[in-house]
Amino acid sequence: MNYISTRGDQSPKHFCDILLEGLAPDGGLYLPDHYPQVNDATLARWREIYHKQGYAELAFEILSLYIDDIPATDLKALCAKTYTAEVFGTGEIVPLRHLENNIWLEALSNGPTLAFKDMAMQLLGNLFEYELARRGEQLNILGATSGDTGSAAEYAMRGKKGVRVFMTSPAGRMSPFQQAQMFSLMDDNIFNIAVDGVFDDCQDMVKAVSNDLDFKRKYKIGTVNSINWARLLAQVVYYFAGYFQATETNAEKVSFTVPSGNFGNICAGHVARMMGLPVARLVVATNENDVLDEFFKTGVYRVRGSADTHETSSPSMDISKASNFERFVFDLLGRDGVRTKALFGDALSRVGFFDLEAHPAFSQAASRYGFVSGKSTHADRLATIKDTWESHGMMIDTHTADGVKVAREHLQAGVPMIVLETALPIKFAATIVEATGREPDRPAKFIGIEALPKRVISMAADARAIKTFIAENCE
Ligand SMILES: *Cc1c(COP(=O)(O)O)cnc(C)c1O
Repeated sequence: MNYISTRGDQSPKHFCDILLEGLAPDGGLYLPDHYPQVNDATLARWREIYHKQGYAELAFEILSLYIDDIPATDLKALCAKTYTAEVFGTGEIVPLRHLENNIWLEALSNGPTLAFKDMAMQLLGNLFEYELARRGEQLNILGATSGDTGSAAEYAMRGKKGVRVFMTSPAGRMSPFQQAQMFSLMDDNIFNIAVDGVFDDCQDMVKAVSNDLDFKRKYKIGTVNSINWARLLAQVVYYFAGYFQATETNAEKVSFTVPSGNFGNICAGHVARMMGLPVARLVVATNENDVLDEFFKTGVYRVRGSADTHETSSPSMDISKASNFERFVFDLLGRDGVRTKALFGDALSRVGFFDLEAHPAFSQAASRYGFVSGKSTHADRLATIKDTWESHGMMIDTHTADGVKVAREHLQAGVPMIVLETALPIKFAATIVEATGREPDRPAKFIGIEALPKRVISMAADARAIKTFIAENCE
């Protein structure tokens, strides 16, 4: 399988070439040069594999269609090591629960940090360790986080050979639970850095280091951001697993609703659908930061400035631009890299938006690709959390609530609607209490984590300070 850039670069690359890379050299995102097609017989075989042998075997089947530079026995072992009941709390890995009518919740948030990012990040940790050992290389992951991504990365990379994680976060701005999750890690290769500043200051420090190419090369600086193709690929698997749980035959269709921010999760659904998974609709749910809802309703994609990016009670969806969205637009435009580059490389940086309303492809977003969208606000979130608790005794987190609210607006008779549950309520306890008057349940392994010793250093918002710190810890 070859990978190409959404901005036109066709020079062939294989999976492991792009595994440790971020953007393509031309600034685009990597995609496979075609989507492998699954027919009825494949679906029937995978259904049986999933039910009889489990999630890890299904993951191996799907991943092996996209990865031709890791031997099959090794890839199988990596999947088996990643998707275990110990790590994900249940042998089903992504169990489906019935909510109401034909709405189901697919639990993606039973991993180590209780958010769906573990699904991909845990695999990435094992892939990184494998590939770095094979090359005899090291990698220093530098990141900025306001919560979910940083902790998922740390729990995926802790104790991994060849990898260190330097994670900056704004001092005192994460919830006590999130701080405890990250700062209680005692592994030698994990470095928590509390920056005296806000999230943007952390990001600026990371950017400043990445722009220093000599430093970057010398200290092997890398990232684990959501545009990494391996993360997206890992997420394709649970669309199939959800489908096999919600249906009995391959003649049936399902729809998915996905609480969305950077468009990574739902883009994996798009890939699954392009492979031939019988998906009726892919419903994009946004919060008040509705860049994506605006696009699917009007054809206008308008990125926001930080002043227009709202801080909401579903914070992992607080984005000003959707970093994976370029992948879908590339497909929508018939994989025209020149056009995609004109939109994302030129128009966005020049005027901050583009408008596809008059483009013949735009109507195909819904008709051919199944995309529809909706938006949810703080008031909707509270009402949905209260209602699912009072009517069904089910407590859902704020992001999942945005999904349920929007899913209810897009039901079709006879088509099961699967809402992806992207986090557990305990991560956002304050809003749950606001909605229901009750504290959410806390999984046993997290009881008392706020009292654990913390391993974190404080730092001024200064790129020189972080460079010195990295250099000192890479001896
Ligand atoms: C990251 C995240 C999202 C958004 O997912 P994208 O792939 O960025 O669209 C939604 N919910 C939670 C809890 C998350 O952590």
